[in-house]
Amino acid sequence: MTSLILTNVRPWGAGPVDVTIADGLIADVAPTGTGDGAGERVDGCGLLALPGFVNAHAHVDKSWWGQPRVSYGGEATTQGRIAHERAERDKHGIPSVASTIAVLREFLRHGTTATRTHVDVDLGVGLRGIESVREAVAALDGAVEVEIVAFPQDGVMRRPGVLELLDQAAVAGATSIGGIDPASIDRDPVAQLDGLFEIAERRGVGIDIHLHDGGELGAFQYELIVDRTLRAGLQGKVTISHGFALGELPPQRQAELLAQFAEAGISWATVAPVRSAPLPWRAMRDGGIPIGLGTDGIRDLWSPYGDGDMLRIALGFARLHGLRTDDDLADAVKLATTDGARFVHRTGHDLVPGARADIVLLDAENVPDALMRAPRRQAVIAGGRLVVRDGELLV
Ligand SMILES: [Zn+2]
Repeated sequence: MTSLILTNVRPWGAGPVDVTIADGLIADVAPTGTGDGAGERVDGCGLLALPGFVNAHAHVDKSWWGQPRVSYGGEATTQGRIAHERAERDKHGIPSVASTIAVLREFLRHGTTATRTHVDVDLGVGLRGIESVREAVAALDGAVEVEIVAFPQDGVMRRPGVLELLDQAAVAGATSIGGIDPASIDRDPVAQLDGLFEIAERRGVGIDIHLHDGGELGAFQYELIVDRTLRAGLQGKVTISHGFALGELPPQRQAELLAQFAEAGISWATVAPVRSAPLPWRAMRDGGIPIGLGTDGIRDLWSPYGDGDMLRIALGFARLHGLRTDDDLADAVKLATTDGARFVHRTGHDLVPGARADIVLLDAENVPDALMRAPRRQAVIAGGRLVVRDGELLV
């Protein structure tokens, strides 16, 4: 049964089409005026249409979005941020369903319709963060599809009991379990990775590991991860998040590692931070190593930056890598949309029949123009439902 016809929109900047939506999916895409379907019509006014953005790396459980701003404090190191967050989070009511709903609504307002989120699992909050994220997702009636990584932010081996929590999270439906700097945080990289891979293999979940360690210390851990991925048969189910070391290594070393990543089916999530070393992204693309873009946390105890807009993250990626041509700029946008689909276990995420009807409309000439200006999202359709109109949330 037809439920909605979005008329006169330009997918990826191409000629105008009408998009017929039925049961939450795109049923048909046809040149404007040629369709004869019945149903409610929404005038797309010739706007640029993109598929919903996919945020491949977020932390929706530990923001205070919607509440007064909190000043930056604590030490600016990974361990400093961890300690500061653990000391301060209760004061800000983290985790909370209301804050998570506020973050997810902001994602939607910017056109993000699916996200992979790491959710803190530790001896302090147990699995409470995961439960609050699930409640928030349900409150929005699934407008944003959310995939959960149980994330041991505070370390694994140095905090006895955390491995058991990760195991419980895997049983309770987390799609992946996380890890963090097995060398510099746990100071026992083999033990952390063995522990994570044992759970992943036994429970059939993926692994998505935060790796901030630079240079050869980072590369050493990549190789440990590749080795265990192959031995556990987890090809295609392991993601390295951040992985700052990769961009810092000499080209020959990068090439060796990329060959290993390709063999092990390792994917890469980056938030393209300023001052990080550019990734060898063309070689990764050509070598079939998937890259996803994410916002990381926004308005949290880690950083004062971020607003949840994936177009601005794509712009940051484009700037960091010196992209200039239309094709390269369009590739940056694809990283934030179609290319991110695998990070939320979607296939066919695009403006094509059969895909979930996740559509973002922007007043832009074409894709590069949208990337440069990141204009407001005129309309967002999520799962076939109009959730943003004239830039304003309807949910
Ligand atoms: Zn993160």
